[in-house]
Amino acid sequence: MSDLPQPRISDLARADGPPPSYLDGLNTEQRRAVEATEGPVLVLAGAGTGKTRVLTTRLAHILATGRARPWELLAVTFTNKAAREMRHRITAIIGPQAEGLRWLGTFHSVAAQILRRNAELVGLKSSYTIIDVDDQERLIKQLLAAENIDAKRWPPKQLAGLIDHWKNRGWTPDKLPPAEGAHFANNRGGALYAMYQDRLRVLNACDFGDLLLHNISIFTGHPDVLAEYHDRFRYILVDEYQDTNVAQYLWLRLLAQKRQNVCCVGDDDQSIYGWRGAEVDNILRFERDFPGAEVIRLERNYRSTEHILAAASGLIAANKGRLGKTLWTDDKGGEKVQVRGVWDGEAESRLIAEEIERAHKDGRHYVDMAILVRASFQMRAFEERFVLLQIPYTVIGGPRFFERAEIRDAHAYLRLVQSPDDDLAFERIVNVPKRGIGDTSVAKLLQVARANGVSATLAARGIVGTDEITARTRTALSTFLRDLDRWRSLRDSMPHARLLETILEESGYTDALRLDKGPTSQTRLENLKELVQSMGAFDTLEAYLEHVSLVMDLDRGAGDDAVQIMTLHGAKGLEFPLVFLPGWEEGVFPSQRSIDEKGEKGLEEERRLAYVGITRAREVARVSFAANRQVYGRWTSQLPSRFVDELPLASVEAASETGYYGGGPGMQETRSRWDDQPEFGSTYSSPGWKRAQNRGFTPRDARTVIEGEGKLVATSDPTSAGAFKRGDRVFHQKFGQGKVTAVEGNKLTVAFDHAGEKKVIDTFIQPA
Ligand code: ATP
Ligand code: MG
Repeated sequence: MSDLPQPRISDLARADGPPPSYLDGLNTEQRRAVEATEGPVLVLAGAGTGKTRVLTTRLAHILATGRARPWELLAVTFTNKAAREMRHRITAIIGPQAEGLRWLGTFHSVAAQILRRNAELVGLKSSYTIIDVDDQERLIKQLLAAENIDAKRWPPKQLAGLIDHWKNRGWTPDKLPPAEGAHFANNRGGALYAMYQDRLRVLNACDFGDLLLHNISIFTGHPDVLAEYHDRFRYILVDEYQDTNVAQYLWLRLLAQKRQNVCCVGDDDQSIYGWRGAEVDNILRFERDFPGAEVIRLERNYRSTEHILAAASGLIAANKGRLGKTLWTDDKGGEKVQVRGVWDGEAESRLIAEEIERAHKDGRHYVDMAILVRASFQMRAFEERFVLLQIPYTVIGGPRFFERAEIRDAHAYLRLVQSPDDDLAFERIVNVPKRGIGDTSVAKLLQVARANGVSATLAARGIVGTDEITARTRTALSTFLRDLDRWRSLRDSMPHARLLETILEESGYTDALRLDKGPTSQTRLENLKELVQSMGAFDTLEAYLEHVSLVMDLDRGAGDDAVQIMTLHGAKGLEFPLVFLPGWEEGVFPSQRSIDEKGEKGLEEERRLAYVGITRAREVARVSFAANRQVYGRWTSQLPSRFVDELPLASVEAASETGYYGGGPGMQETRSRWDDQPEFGSTYSSPGWKRAQNRGFTPRDARTVIEGEGKLVATSDPTSAGAFKRGDRVFHQKFGQGKVTAVEGNKLTVAFDHAGEKKVIDTFIQPA
């Protein structure tokens, strides 16, 4: 070990002196959890009871009492954000010494470091690369092709998902239970998994799941290496323990085996990553695997007011599969959890935006307010509202709605329909979804466009009549151009939301997503549905596209004081004075998909997510649900979430002053006041939107010309047009030498010496 000399600060906390100040204010149980440094400790406690605080203080305590030096501590948290936060807090206690905490990070970041040092033991070099999901899929696709497995029937994404699942369970190919491999390509899953791992090794690469898996292989196969880490890590600390998966658990157990100085903190009621392989059972296993473990329960919540805590506790009590615990707080009084029924999603975003503006006027910082959604599609309404009202906001842990790939794709289609010259849009979607127009063909097309000073669409029209691209690509491109023409012709007769829906269906975009077995395809479909429905608020496609460019333009640089928008999953471990919880409707939250796929278990996980949501709030928690949502242009009535009804009445209040409210817990009906919705069903007319328009936003010069096939000549570059004539000897990059037999604008027919007669474009021709 390359330990550097480091000043000890154990003097700060000599046993005979007064207790160090960082212990001040901890309650008895917390203090016990901090001071019980030797032997296994499990802190099992509800939200906001100070688990993370205990963990941080414990770390500081170990350092301050000289029990270990910073690089002898292993501390794992769930996200990079949480790791940074922890380092920050420790620095506040012990100062710059915290910089030496080299092994504080996420499971993956720590495992990656360990793998770097021992890569050769699993057949990698220390310079290995970590591949992303795209590369992973590409690799699997190549494998399937080499094995003659039909990728349509057995999608690469599906195998990628299986492999991930196996890795989360700690199964290397040789340890894979035979029945597991049966799930793919007629029992070939296991063999493909082995091939995939071999291939990664050849590439000196590994995927995300490998990081822990390789660590486990190294530790189990090389006791000397494991012993080295036993030596190194004197104390091990783990936050959000309830969300560890089997591989992470095995890894921990291996590392903690010898010294047993391991402290895990967690809350079974906040286990929300079952879909990623997290196992609450790990909590129960802990006591078995570490006999004599001290289990400490914390019951005092320091985060939330009594109503918020009571609402959350009442809700989670409906779950059967839980260890159960009591929570109390000294923070009496405060606002009850408000539950509001609104007319629709727009009304919901309007209400919350108004409340945020009001709170801000009353002196609250934006950064103290959070909107926690179940699914990303819900963000759209808020983001647009905030842009219009100029409320700064940030989306944590993901792209903003309009920056999502599927939304950009949909907009590219619309822009191209609106303006055939929009080459950026053309490039973006010419082969999305995949229609067999490869990169080479696209590059060629753009070259022609540039050389002739025409749009890519126009260049495409020219090139489809030639042999420059293969027959297959030609067909694909013609179909695409014909589709574009048809959509353009529909533009004036069809409502634009319907038009987008038609485009997404006819282009195969939605089908491609439906077939996609990847983890994000469902979310992306939902986002597109949300997009289609939101377009109804604009009179014309042009107005809509203007609006989008405006939103995209303002959608930047919110600064530090911004409203925090994120998913409930992303909010784990965080806290905010004001929390808004929109979309509590059956099907949205609890998510229909969760229930469909996992039944009662899925429902309980959704309920834990609701518990996480409410317990993020320190002072104010406001739940809302809409009576109606528009899906694909049709209105559907929504039922309030069952979670609304599960909130204990005594801690909840119907927020009738909003004027929208029609019910409370127990009421399944919402009264809505149509007259409160003046702009409902018409174009956007909110003051903010007017303000935005008044700021000098100019509509885009949207050209709507539809060019006919093969008119390339009319607009081609005069210097190149007519440069060749019949009888000229020419050279073509692909077909070689030949003689021009006919000229039609910049399209030439050439009898090539070897390739025969071809139609080509003069861009690719030189005089021989
Ligand atoms: P979660 O389950 O949501 O991760 P947690 O159990 O990790 O919550 P913390 O985030 O550590 O809880 O603490 C919640 C809040 O209570 C924090 O603001 C923390 O500073 C505060 N807190 C914890 N313990 C005490 C204490 N003894 N005195 C005062 N404040 C405390
Ligand atoms: Mg915590």
